[in-house]
Amino acid sequence: MKRLEILAPAGGTESVYPAVRVGADAVYLGAKKLSARGSAQNFDREELKKAVEYCHACGVRVYLACNTLLRDAEMKDALDIIEYACEIPVDALIVQDLGLASIIRRSAPDMRLHASTQMSVHTRDGVRLLAEMGFKRVVLSRELSRKELEEIAKDSPIELEVFVHGALCMSVSGQCYFSSVLGSRSGNRGLCAQPCRLPFGVSGGTGHDLSLKDNSLVPYLRDLQEMGIASAKIEGRMKRPEYVAVSVAACRQSLDKGSVDKELAEKLRAVFSRSGFTDGYFTGRRGADMFGIRSRDDTACATSKVFNSIHTMYKNEKSKIPVDIKLNICRSQPSSITVSDDIGNSAVVLGAVPERAEKTALDREKCFAGMNKTGGTPFFLRDFDLNLDDGLFVSLPSLNSLRREALDLLFEKRKKRRAITFSNISLPETGTRTAKTNTKTRARFVNGNIPDEFLCCELVYVPINLKDDEYISLMDRGFALAVEIPRGMFGLEKYIYERLKKIKLLGINEVLASNLGAVKIAQTLDMDIHGGFGLNITNTSSVKWAEEQGFLDAEISFELTLEQISELGGVLPLGIISYGRLPLMLTRLCPAQNDGKGCKSCKTAPFLTDRKNVKFPMLCYGSCNEILNSVPVILSDRKKDIKGVDFEVLRFTVENLVETGENLRLFNQKLCRKSGFTRGLYYRGVE
Ligand SMILES: [Zn+2]
Repeated sequence: MKRLEILAPAGGTESVYPAVRVGADAVYLGAKKLSARGSAQNFDREELKKAVEYCHACGVRVYLACNTLLRDAEMKDALDIIEYACEIPVDALIVQDLGLASIIRRSAPDMRLHASTQMSVHTRDGVRLLAEMGFKRVVLSRELSRKELEEIAKDSPIELEVFVHGALCMSVSGQCYFSSVLGSRSGNRGLCAQPCRLPFGVSGGTGHDLSLKDNSLVPYLRDLQEMGIASAKIEGRMKRPEYVAVSVAACRQSLDKGSVDKELAEKLRAVFSRSGFTDGYFTGRRGADMFGIRSRDDTACATSKVFNSIHTMYKNEKSKIPVDIKLNICRSQPSSITVSDDIGNSAVVLGAVPERAEKTALDREKCFAGMNKTGGTPFFLRDFDLNLDDGLFVSLPSLNSLRREALDLLFEKRKKRRAITFSNISLPETGTRTAKTNTKTRARFVNGNIPDEFLCCELVYVPINLKDDEYISLMDRGFALAVEIPRGMFGLEKYIYERLKKIKLLGINEVLASNLGAVKIAQTLDMDIHGGFGLNITNTSSVKWAEEQGFLDAEISFELTLEQISELGGVLPLGIISYGRLPLMLTRLCPAQNDGKGCKSCKTAPFLTDRKNVKFPMLCYGSCNEILNSVPVILSDRKKDIKGVDFEVLRFTVENLVETGENLRLFNQKLCRKSGFTRGLYYRGVE
């Protein structure tokens, strides 16, 4: 059985030492740019290099988080950071952007790639596609249950990383546009403003039905190790060093001893919690008690007394790296010490020629005692080999300084690693898309009630759960259909395979895939793929990736402005959502259930209300939920601004049949309603 790695967050230099000293096997951190925690302190080049050297010398791996979505104009800077990461070198890069990932594969094929949880991968197929794309590890979605994790782990071709402690987002990571749409601060670009922690409520709910307690799977670390998970990740690059120390300590203890002392568990909660912790996703007990906010009690717990007691945990280096010491003290020769570690480093230091002993001669016991004093260094003495002539004398201070110098030298040598090869590659050409005078129209529906007037659409997206005769009747009426594979496929993989096989037999061979797992399913079944917005395509390299995967076309992320979209390159036909309530979140928990009545109320158009009484409708798909914007995007009167786009999608969600028809008519007449709509991010964009 492989040892479970404990992976600690380091938002800044001051968190690296606690993580390493308390017992993390690896740390992850972000550069000043490209980090999904834009507001953490993060690391400049010098700090990054120092952190990597220190961690490596202490036997700890370092992963650099480059997990934001990028635009073409930012790729060059991103590559500079990657090049530097290869030079120092970090042990892996954590990546979200599909385009950046394929660029790294080509420019630094030996660099390990980890798929960020922002890639929203939560199925075996998603993991398989990542493996094919050259990833060595995936950070799985946080919403998975123990059973689902086991299912993924049993034959995973690459390493799996699971979040075991820290904050939970309400949305599946990578599928949250809440902060973007509400305030132009994109969570996918590391700038989430956390509006979900504000009071958004369903009727009869908790009053904060988008705010989850912090996750804690600390008691289950041995279970995770047993099922073959490679890494236990602690969330919290925005949190303080004391949090890092105590959460690493708790994980270490849980894994080594099988449980966590009461006192340490109390400290863990005191240092940060939101009304306690939850393990609801892991245990599958999903419900209202998973919700919580940071209460006055929570903040009151975090006293300076607690923090001071945590400081003592990481004041000094912990001796955990074995070294072998060979000491030579022979007549008429300079004394010499050789220290060696397990990974091929050794250091030799010469001392003075030993004197003849006046009284008591040096013996093995004294030599051993002198060499064994490794306290305050990351080393401990494993093997001791002594070559000592009789009747000689070396003072204790001289022995000590030999040892100290040798260990310092070894520490310095351990800092150095061979750089990873990086070659500059040319980025794809941008701005090559020709302006279309007429875009094609598509529509997306959540049921099979599609009025005839939509026959003007070149393609209609329909859900996967229609009855067979509904598909047949729609095709008989003349609709060209593609089936939408749900973005959230938790526990649905087998069902989706079965449905699609059946649907294929009916004569539909096209799907809308918005998740890597869905892409892989379609490829396995040899179906034609339309890429959905959930793949977060925001640059030309990502467009190229979709071309390489054999897509027919793809929706561009609605986090780009129309201008940014017009500047993309590639030849793949691209589309935008030009009508519809933007999906702000994809959630596994149904907030409407917080009224205690299950999903009963979901049949009658549930909604969330904010402090200003603005209503956000929700679509409950049973396995997952979509939280929609309060008003739809409308671009029908802005055709002149839409350039380089091949098709426009009218994305229907909660509209009734009358509204649906009206919106199509407005769209076709290039008109817009007077109020109650938004331009989305197509003009204002996101930071
Ligand atoms: Zn529901």
